[in-house]
Amino acid sequence: MNPSLTLTLLLAVGLLAHVALKLWLNARQVRHVAAHRGAVPEAYAHTITLADHQKAADYTLAKAGLSQWDILLDAVVLLGWTLLGGLDALNQWLLGWMAPGLVQQVALVVAFMLIGGLIGLPLSLLQTFGVEQRFGFNKMTPALWLSDLFKALLVGALLGLPLLALVLWLMDAGGALWWLWAWAALVLWQLFLMAIAPNLIMPLFNKFTPLEDQALQSRIQALMQRAGFEAKGFFVMDGSRRSAHSNAFFTGFGASKRVVFFDTLLKQLSPAEMEAVLAHELGHFKHRHIFKMMAVSFATTLVGLALLGWLAQQAWFYTGLGVVPNMAGSNSALALVLFMGVVPVFSFFLAPLSSWRSRVQEFEADAYAGSQTPPSDLASALLKLYQDNASTLTPDPLFVKFYYSHPPASERLARMQA
Ligand SMILES: [Zn+2]
Repeated sequence: MNPSLTLTLLLAVGLLAHVALKLWLNARQVRHVAAHRGAVPEAYAHTITLADHQKAADYTLAKAGLSQWDILLDAVVLLGWTLLGGLDALNQWLLGWMAPGLVQQVALVVAFMLIGGLIGLPLSLLQTFGVEQRFGFNKMTPALWLSDLFKALLVGALLGLPLLALVLWLMDAGGALWWLWAWAALVLWQLFLMAIAPNLIMPLFNKFTPLEDQALQSRIQALMQRAGFEAKGFFVMDGSRRSAHSNAFFTGFGASKRVVFFDTLLKQLSPAEMEAVLAHELGHFKHRHIFKMMAVSFATTLVGLALLGWLAQQAWFYTGLGVVPNMAGSNSALALVLFMGVVPVFSFFLAPLSSWRSRVQEFEADAYAGSQTPPSDLASALLKLYQDNASTLTPDPLFVKFYYSHPPASERLARMQA
């Protein structure tokens, strides 16, 4: 069989398996949560009310209902781009009124991303103003949503377009090892983004004010000293402008680390619980999780780019995915777009690996928090967070294996009690 037809069949079978697996996992989650909706699990009978338990169940079911459409839409869109000839048509149309060259290449990738974003827009709106709104989590007005969208587009264009142009240029002019140069550029760009995000990007979307609660501040300062950390400051972020969900995180590098708390978190937790949550975040630093995560992501990117470097040279890579390669001009943008579209179909089968690694790291951070603060504080903080975020206490075990970056509450609390 010729390689072009083999690739077409591989995509068709892969996509079918991908969609079937995702829908099956979704259905399992729905069945499992619905089956346990009637009663609070025994271990939480005294801490979680039936009303809260059922809200979490209904929220999970609503999200699963929407995600089912998302799965189907993604598959149809990918089919449309590839085997049904959408990308080929877009390329020909652009070539109809633009000369082949770097500008046309950039335009093709940008058009591909904008059209994809536009198709996904209705579901994303339903998510925010439908599901999140119904369960009281959405705090965004349509005006804020629009201004976020424009800011994100502007920042994305400002920071992303030069990188895209550089990568496309390297693909054409960088020789046989272009993927190595492109990788170096991507790594540097990523590090640059991480360096400027806290001071230049995040303030565009949120207000950061210094933590004013003196008692809490001296408390967490003492914890950080005990654990051997320095921070450039403690900040409160107005997360409540957009959502009632809560979080805490670190930003920045080395000595310029800042600790950021969502204002929603400050409202929900006691000072002792805040300290325990921060100790958990410190645990991620102690175990160098951020560093390890970046190393894995850079290594994966390198493998991906090497693969793309090889595929981009094969005529069957284009024809097998429904595109006629340009005979005269460059095919770099086509290769890049096809690769970005098709890889997730197959990489999803590896999702349990990365989810598992992430859950192991959460356990490590919990254990570290337990060595710095009373485990009962983290336990009660977690219970409040799971409750306030309406996270279900009874997820389907297999769904967890694929999707959960954090272990379900029951597993984390069981470990803390042990
Ligand atoms: Zn964590």
